[in-house]
Amino acid sequence: MADIGGNTAAVQATNDDASASKLSCVKKGYMKDNHIQLFVRRPIRRSPIINRGYYARWAALRKLMFQFLNSGHGKDAESHAKKQIVSLGAGFDTTFFQLREDGNAPDLYVELDFKEVTSKKAAIVESSKQLRDHLGEEASISHERGEILSEHYKLLPADLRDIKQLDPVLEKAQLDCSLPTFIIAECVLIYLDPDATRAVVGWSSKTFSSSIFFLYEQIHPDDAFGHQMIRNLESRGCPLLGIYATPTLEAKEKLFLDQGWQRAVAWDMQKVYSNFIDVQERRRIERLEIFDEFEEWHMMQEHYCVAYAINDAEGIFEGFGFTGNQEA
Ligand code: SAH
Repeated sequence: MADIGGNTAAVQATNDDASASKLSCVKKGYMKDNHIQLFVRRPIRRSPIINRGYYARWAALRKLMFQFLNSGHGKDAESHAKKQIVSLGAGFDTTFFQLREDGNAPDLYVELDFKEVTSKKAAIVESSKQLRDHLGEEASISHERGEILSEHYKLLPADLRDIKQLDPVLEKAQLDCSLPTFIIAECVLIYLDPDATRAVVGWSSKTFSSSIFFLYEQIHPDDAFGHQMIRNLESRGCPLLGIYATPTLEAKEKLFLDQGWQRAVAWDMQKVYSNFIDVQERRRIERLEIFDEFEEWHMMQEHYCVAYAINDAEGIFEGFGFTGNQEA
C-alpha cells in the first residue's frame, strides 16, 4: 500500500489512544459503554480535561445521531423506518454494539478502516461472545480478510485515500444509496491529504442524496495552542495533513458546500459544549472529578469542532442540527 504522507501505523495507533480514553471515561462514569473494555489491552487513567473532552465529543455525536435516527417519523413512517450509518475510519469504536444493546440500531451499520485495524477488530469480535451475540447467527467473521458480514453490521477494510475502493466497498456492504444515511468521520479526515478529504466528501455527497455527514476534528493550527497540538501529533508520526486546508469553522463549512452538500454548519467544541450538550448531563459530568484547568479546557475546546453537512432530497431532516439546550 502506498503511504501518501504520514506514517500509516502511527495514524492507526491513534485508534488505540481513542479506545483507551473512552475506557477511562467509562470508568469514571462519564458515559456507559459495556464493550469498550474488550478493545483495550492496557487501561489507563486520563486527566479530567481529557475525560471531559472525550465526553463532549461522545455526547455531541450521540445527540446528532439520535436526531438522525428519529428523523422522518410521522411523515411517511414506513419508508423512513430504515436508516443506515457509515463510519469512516471507525477504529475500535463500539457505537454499533451500544445501539444494538439499547434497541436503537439502524437497519445497517457499516464500518471502514485500514485492513490492519479491521483485522484486529474482527479478531476481537470473533473471540467475544458478548459482541458476537449482537451480530446474529448468520454472521461471517474473518480476521484474515478483516471483514465481518452480518445482517445489520458490516466491517470492511478500505483505504479512504483511494476513492476508487469506496464504490465496491459500498456494494459489498449492501448499502442502499436511496436510504437516509448518517456518515461519521471522527478524527479521521484530518490525517488525509486535503485532496483525499475533498474526494471523500464529494463522493459521499454524490452517493447519498438523503444524508448527513458528521465530522469531528481539529481546527486553528495557527496560534500557540494549535502549534503545540500539531507538534505533538507530528512527533508521534501522524501529522494533521488536512488542517491547513480547513483551518477555521468557515473553511470546514466551505469544504462541504464546495463538494455539493446542500447545507453545512460548523461549531467549535466550546460552543457545542455550552449551547448544544444537554444542561442536565453537563451538570452531572461536571461533578464527577475535581476540575480546575479551566483556561486549558477552553483553549482545547476551541481547537476541536463538529461540522455537519446535510443533503435532504426528501425533506426529512428539517429539524436536524444544533438546537438550543437551555432549560425551559
Ligand atoms: N473514529 C474512531 C477512531 C479514530 S482514530 C473514533 O473516533 O474513535 C483514526 C482512525 O482512522 C484509525 O483507526 C485509523 O486507522 C483510521 N484511518 C486513518 N486514515 C485512514 C485511511 N486512509 N483509510 C482508512 N482508515 C483510516
